[in-house]
Amino acid sequence: MSLQVGVIGTGMIGQDHIRRLTRVLSGAEITGVSDIDYDRAASAAPEGAEVFETPQALVRSDNVQAIVICSWGPAHEEQLLDCIAAGKPVFCEKPLVTSEAAALRVMEAEAAFGRRLVQVGFMRRFDADYRRLKAVIDGGSLGAPLMYKSVHRNASVPEGLYTSEMPLNDTLVHDADISRWLLADEIESVEVRVPRRSSRGTDLRDPVMVMLHMQSGAIVDVEISVNIAYGYDIRGEVSCETGVAALPNRPATVISDHFGIRQAIPEDWRERFTEAYDQEFREWLLAAGQGGATGPSTWDGYAATLVADAALRAVKSGGRETIQMIGKPEIYS
Ligand code: NAP
Repeated sequence: MSLQVGVIGTGMIGQDHIRRLTRVLSGAEITGVSDIDYDRAASAAPEGAEVFETPQALVRSDNVQAIVICSWGPAHEEQLLDCIAAGKPVFCEKPLVTSEAAALRVMEAEAAFGRRLVQVGFMRRFDADYRRLKAVIDGGSLGAPLMYKSVHRNASVPEGLYTSEMPLNDTLVHDADISRWLLADEIESVEVRVPRRSSRGTDLRDPVMVMLHMQSGAIVDVEISVNIAYGYDIRGEVSCETGVAALPNRPATVISDHFGIRQAIPEDWRERFTEAYDQEFREWLLAAGQGGATGPSTWDGYAATLVADAALRAVKSGGRETIQMIGKPEIYS
C-alpha cells in the first residue's frame, strides 16, 4: 500500500519532490499540499491531492500519514513540532531550523516522543559518489583523514530570496554535514575569511572561505561561491595519511565544437543531485512507512545549525568561534 504523503511548501524544491514522489518513485501517494500561497499549492497539487489552507490542517488530516516540509527555514520549527505532536514521520528540507534554541526545542519534542520521526534533507549522504568516497575513508587503506577540501559553487541564487548571510546560514550547512559524516567527526570550532566580494550584482557575502576545525584535529576548508555564473560545481577531496580520495568529476558527454573539447557542467542542484534525491526519498519512504526515519537526523540538523551560528559569529569577531554541543540524546545514538 502507498504511503499517504502531504507536502508543505510548493516552491522550487517542493515541486521537484512532488514530481519525484508521483512520477519517479513508487510507494507514495500525495494526498495533501499546502503553501502560504494557496494558489501556488493548488497549481502544484497532483490529481486527487487536497489543498489545505494551513500546514497544521494538513498535518492533522487523517489522509496524511507522513509529511515533507519544503517551506523556508524560519517556518520549519513550528511545522516540525506539529508533525512530532501528531506522531507522524517527517522529511524536512535543510536547514532543519534557523537557531540553536529552535533545534533544541525540536530535539526535546522528538526525544519526548521516544523515537526518531524526523529526517533532514542532507541529500549528499545519499549520493553514490559521496558514498564511495566515504567507503574508501572508512576502509582505512589511506590511513586517517587529515584534511578535507569542500567546494560548493552555485551559478546564481534567486534575487531577493535571501539575506546577505545566506552563504553562511543556508548553504554552509551542506558542507558542515558532509564533513561530519565523511570524517566521522564533530566540528569543534569555525573560522571565516572573506575575500574580495564578487561584483555580480548582489549584496550577498559571497564568496566566502570557511575553516572547520574537527575534534580529531583534522581541518576542513570550504569554499562557498553562490553566484559564480558558470554552473553548479561541487567538489571534495580528502587528504589522508598515505593518499588522497576525491569525488570524481561527474561523467558527462564530451562535446567537441568550435569552442574546443568540453563537458557540460550541471546547471543547478536539481541536475547534479537528481539520483541522490531519488535515493534519499526511496530510503525515507521505507523508513516512514514503518513510522520512523533514517539517515540525517535532528541531531545532525542541530550540529549544522551550530556551525552556521558559529560562522556568523566568526565573521564579526574575525577569530575562531567554538561550538558547544549538548550531550547526544539516546534516540540519536
Ligand atoms: P521556494 O521556492 O521559496 O519555496 C518555498 C515555498 O514555501 C514557497 O512557496 C513559500 O511561499 C512557501 N512558504 C514559506 N513559508 C511558508 C509557511 N510558513 N507555510 C507554508 N509555505 C510556506 O524555496 P525552495 O528553493 O523550494 O526551498 C525550500 C526549502 O528547501 C528551503 O529550506 C531550502 O533551503 C531548501 N532547499 C534544499 C535544497 C537541497 O539541496 N537539499 C535545495 C534547494 C532548497 P512564499 O514564496 O510566498 O514565501
